[in-house]
Amino acid sequence: MKKWFAVIGNPISHSLSPEMHETWLKQMNVDATYIPIHVELDHLEQAVESLKLLGCSGWNVTVPFKEAIIPYLDEVDDSAKGIGAVNTVVKTLDNKYVGYNTDGLGFINSLGRILPEYNILIIGAGGAARGIAHALKTQGFTHLTIANRTVEKARVLVEELKAGQAVTLEVAENTLIKFDVIVQTTPLGMKNSDASLPIQLHQLKENAIVADIVYNPLVTPLIEEAKKYNVRTINGLGMLVHQGALAFSYWNGVNPDTDGMIQQLIDQLGGNYVNR
Ligand code: NAP
Repeated sequence: MKKWFAVIGNPISHSLSPEMHETWLKQMNVDATYIPIHVELDHLEQAVESLKLLGCSGWNVTVPFKEAIIPYLDEVDDSAKGIGAVNTVVKTLDNKYVGYNTDGLGFINSLGRILPEYNILIIGAGGAARGIAHALKTQGFTHLTIANRTVEKARVLVEELKAGQAVTLEVAENTLIKFDVIVQTTPLGMKNSDASLPIQLHQLKENAIVADIVYNPLVTPLIEEAKKYNVRTINGLGMLVHQGALAFSYWNGVNPDTDGMIQQLIDQLGGNYVNR
């Protein structure tokens, strides 16, 4: 049977994943297709059973099902279990459906080379921050500080990680000079959302790296502000593409072209912005 892949979510029509995976399938000569599936909020279990019954080769999971899907899978990889969220499901040779989370590692791959001794500030303690923080810890980056509007959520994450510290946004802003990498994971700056900054950058360290995982728009207010300080900035497209590339490699055993895909999406999103 021809292989087929999917992404499930609600809403799903905005997802860039179908186009990304269809392009890679063609480029890598994999005879398969990838489709978006809108799942009603109270129909997740039936949707998963249907995907299994119809022999789906693997699928991505997006908002709001990343946590809720876990009980319906046959197995969940340890790191996804730790994060408590799955974004990629892989069909094994013995027809089991196993959940993984490629978001955090995808983010790390999009950063390029960073050093284990770097001090890393993560702004936000939601789903994306959890994936990134767990992946950083697993990869040996332990100098982690989590700053969140609701500081208690940052504390819970730090306790789980058994590494790092939790601070308020105010403390993060006032001690910014300590940090080599700043990772913005809140929805602030998304198109049609509040355009304010989660923290001011007056104390930004020279040569810091500022990453914002929001990719719509490509240049968020935080990225725009960081550029004034002449530091390296990274937008969220890299994370999107690299998490997808990891899923593609789990399914098909080959690594697709990430740089070409980032450029294709920049062109498509109408931006002329390139990370540097
Ligand atoms: P989430 O679980 O809802 O978490 C949102 C986080 O943002 C929480 O820590 C929340 O703080 C904080 N926050 C929300 N509004 C805020 C405000 N006005 N001021 C300060 N903090 C605020 O969301 P998520 O799933 O982590 O996603 C977050 C963003 O990442 C979204 O914009 C999403 O599109 C983007 N994302 C990008 C990628 C990618 O591939 N590039 C992947 C995943 C997600 P509280 O705890 O105080 O509420």
